[in-house]
Amino acid sequence: MLTINENYLKLQASYLFSDIAKRVASFQAKNPQRNVIKLGIGDVTKALPQACVAAFHKAVDEMAKDATFRGYGPEQGYDFLREAIVVNDFQARGVDISADEIFVSDGAKCDTGNIQELFSTDIKIAIPDPVYPVYLDTNVMAGRTGAFADGRYQGVVYLDSTRENNFVPALPSEDVDLIYLCFPNNPTGSTITKEELKKWVDYARGNKALILFDAAYEAFVRDDSLPRSIYEIEGAKEVAVEFRSFSKNAGFTGTRCAYTVVPKECTAYDSRGNRQTIYPLWNRRHCTKFNGVSYPVQRAAAAVYSEEGKREVRQLTDYYMRNADLVRKEIAALGYDTMGGKNSPYVWIDGKGSSWKFFDMLLDQAGVVCTPGAGFGKCGEGYIRISAFNSYENVEGAMKRIQQVLA
Ligand code: PLP
Repeated sequence: MLTINENYLKLQASYLFSDIAKRVASFQAKNPQRNVIKLGIGDVTKALPQACVAAFHKAVDEMAKDATFRGYGPEQGYDFLREAIVVNDFQARGVDISADEIFVSDGAKCDTGNIQELFSTDIKIAIPDPVYPVYLDTNVMAGRTGAFADGRYQGVVYLDSTRENNFVPALPSEDVDLIYLCFPNNPTGSTITKEELKKWVDYARGNKALILFDAAYEAFVRDDSLPRSIYEIEGAKEVAVEFRSFSKNAGFTGTRCAYTVVPKECTAYDSRGNRQTIYPLWNRRHCTKFNGVSYPVQRAAAAVYSEEGKREVRQLTDYYMRNADLVRKEIAALGYDTMGGKNSPYVWIDGKGSSWKFFDMLLDQAGVVCTPGAGFGKCGEGYIRISAFNSYENVEGAMKRIQQVLA
């Protein structure tokens, strides 16, 4: 008899985006004339940079001729991309990462979800609340948690992110082994200073722990004093794996390309307490279960680092940041407490009551879709997330409507 992995039965159905879609569909059915403005999901809306498109086309043309055709590439990514990454994303900021520590992949979602399988099931994991749900769900699937009770999985150390700590969680009071951090944060839009991040690095060094640092939104950081990479913190290479993505900076959400940095110094321990580097484990996992990102996509990603590509990425992210700025200012002017929107494309708003009630009110009265914070964890209750990924005209229109309802 075939039995299932019962950990999957512990998973809470992720109703968030389907619930939103259902409520929007029902509203549209009742109000067919009303044009709904969607500031809910974190998907980008603007086209790929022209530099990427040109590189993409050129690579497809190469694939069209026997002489330049490419089959399977290196699982870890082509050198041209790995080298461009280290020069531009790390060496340019004084960080010493080598090209062979870069693992190119088809998404930070897969990488942040897959990395946990390198570690044993009885480790203690620390996960922020509210949170990008992938970190939590993949650990549930792997059997690292107990049942779901009262809004939380048993056995997980939740790192509360609240207004009191500016949505940057405090160090855990108990020992943990694997720590997930995401800055700039989805969903709260909060950022972390170098001093605060250093506390986490020092904690991990002192506790034989590892930090999984999701920097998918680093391209939105405008304040130069904030870290764009955890490796800007001394000692982080021993205790941190970093995840990056081309999804939000260059609009690759549908094109798919990302990378993970696994420094060779990073270690974990075997059951006899011997130090083991995790680099060969991740390399082995990657090569066994993944066959590389397509050549044209990697060429398109490498074009992000050309002079034209850098200019276009800056324009794209500036465009979204202008939206975020507008949202933040307009909502704050209405007397609501906001977080994010400064070095992040997300604005996190205290709705002064239930997340879903606020969501329904914005939808019914303003025809604007946001994301209820409660869908990201217990500490998200009471908040909503507004995403800057839309046209300026739509964001402006949404703000005018919200003003009419809330003023
Ligand atoms: N990490 C965070 C925090 C995200 O919000 C997202 C997407 O919304 C991802 C990772 C996924 O990135 P990718 O498109 O590279 O899979």
